[in-house]
Amino acid sequence: MPASPLVAPLTELRRHLGARREVEASVDLPGLATSTAAVVDGEPVEVDLVIESIPQGVSVSGTVRARWVGQCRRCLDDVLGDVDVDVKEIFERMPTEGETWPLGADEIDLEPVVREAVLLALPLAPLCDEGCLGPAPDRFPATVEDDDDRDDEGEAELPRDPRWAALDQLDLGD
Ligand SMILES: [Zn+2]
Repeated sequence: MPASPLVAPLTELRRHLGARREVEASVDLPGLATSTAAVVDGEPVEVDLVIESIPQGVSVSGTVRARWVGQCRRCLDDVLGDVDVDVKEIFERMPTEGETWPLGADEIDLEPVVREAVLLALPLAPLCDEGCLGPAPDRFPATVEDDDDRDDEGEAELPRDPRWAALDQLDLGD
């Protein structure tokens, strides 16, 4: 397997306090998904990080960017968006669980950091637009059929929004 662009050797870095190494890469990281959004298939994650030697290990800072696709929580349309995450992590020999990362002897692998940064930034409840009103009235009319009896029952389970009530009233007059 070819070396991952996210793996960097540590020996040189650890020799001098303050030594830095830039990691700039576009990487395919399959499987980056939550229940509500996922990194777009085939779109690389853009990594722009600096590893710096610090007394207790190394710090990793910079940005991670990715394009995601999800489903609008109101109208269920596909939504595309970008995450642009600031990363600031510490790798050390004696890591604090949940706060810092374990530092290996010879090399550092940034992939877990990049994956976590993207996953935490994916939206939990995507919206196509702040003002999304739900199913677009012109595409999903409130009264689809001329079968009057079905209207109330069929929609009873949907949350009633005052704006829908206004639409209902409009539909009554003809
Ligand atoms: Zn929407």
